Amino acid sequence: MVRKTVSRMLAEAGHTVVPFEDSAAALAHVGADPSVTCVLTSLEVAPLDGLELCWALRALADDRRPLTILVMSSARENRPLDEVLDSGADDFLTKPPATQELHARLRSAERVLRLQQELIRQADTDHLTQLLNRRALMRQGHRAVEQASAVDPLAVLLIDIDHFKSINDSHGHDVGDVVIRHVAHILREAGGIAGRLGGEEFALLLQGHCLGGAAVVAHRIRRRCALPIPLGQNNAPLRFTVSVGLSEWSDGASVDTLLKEADLALYAAKQGGRNRVAVISASLQPELID
Ligand code: GH3
Ligand code: MG
Ligand code: MG
Repeated sequence: MVRKTVSRMLAEAGHTVVPFEDSAAALAHVGADPSVTCVLTSLEVAPLDGLELCWALRALADDRRPLTILVMSSARENRPLDEVLDSGADDFLTKPPATQELHARLRSAERVLRLQQELIRQADTDHLTQLLNRRALMRQGHRAVEQASAVDPLAVLLIDIDHFKSINDSHGHDVGDVVIRHVAHILREAGGIAGRLGGEEFALLLQGHCLGGAAVVAHRIRRRCALPIPLGQNNAPLRFTVSVGLSEWSDGASVDTLLKEADLALYAAKQGGRNRVAVISASLQPELID
């Protein structure tokens, strides 16, 4: 009866509610669906009791998975509040909860949740470009490599702005930053998982792309970067180019090996005159491609 009443109260307030009678099924659901951000449970649940459920839920949550756990308990259950909180719960309500109190507790939980989500976003984001930073790109890269297979290929592009130091030297650091953001914008539009590895170097992971398809994308990026960018009325448009190194997933590859191979190819693109795309062939020999 409490489950039904509380579900209705939450649904009326605009929350998406998935009710469970079985605590193990609830735990499995929360484990499988990272979009669940709050669990509201009674202590009187089975087969896991309320405290066991709290422990297991808290173990699911980490610095990348915020989860609010609210526990309801009636006076006759009489579990000390410290025991409930030490089991991983964030807050405690009497059962059945009063409508206003329930909503207020959820608003408070949402404030903390939004803060946590913003912290997670900031920790993953490159400040200048809003692309993924190196750490987040590597993490997503590990996942992409795990998913890759012979029928679901993965290509890695390493993009480096040519003679970027001389752009900074002749136009100033601010214009250098404009160029970095411009490349980031082009990479975002290219699709895939884009990140700034540092300085004027970027990576783009293309899932579902073999070397041939990725080379087409690489040349498209190279050509778009070579188009002049306007710098305001009194300044001549700025021209710059990028070089791109490409590698392709094969059995046993890791993000690190893929980036190392793409870096070898990038070096060849630079040696070959810049504004070039180079790939690593099966024999690990870099070659320029038109
Ligand atoms: P190459 O064609 O061989 O890649 O030469 P390059 O000049 O592009 O490469 P180099 O590594 O010599 O210089 C990179 C420069 O990027 C040096 C550094 O001052 C500058 N840089 C690094 N981070 C930033 C940034 O956030 N903003 C700006 N404006 N410049 C940066
Ligand atoms: Mg460079
Ligand atoms: Mg560089």
